[in-house]
Amino acid sequence: MPTCQNCKHKWSWSETVKQQLKSKYICPYCGQRQHLSEKSQFMQAVLTLLTSLAFIFVFTNIEESWVSLLVLIIVSITVLLVTAPFVTELSNEKKQL
Ligand SMILES: [Zn+2]
Repeated sequence: MPTCQNCKHKWSWSETVKQQLKSKYICPYCGQRQHLSEKSQFMQAVLTLLTSLAFIFVFTNIEESWVSLLVLIIVSITVLLVTAPFVTELSNEKKQL
């Protein structure tokens, strides 16, 4: 789980997901804005790519219907939300990959 680089508090999984959904990383302990580290941006991109590839693989191998597509989209988003906090690292400075 990520640790705030300002106050060194470790964020819980639910706090991290909450911040990700807002797409702003504001520390719930000190209120300081945090940014994703370069390594974390890279890991999240890899995670998204792998999930997308799995999505395409599964979708081309199942019976195509809007229900299975909907289920697949929900499962993919859930997998990303559940796993992303484990590859999230915070930084005080904004760095782009
Ligand atoms: Zn903090």
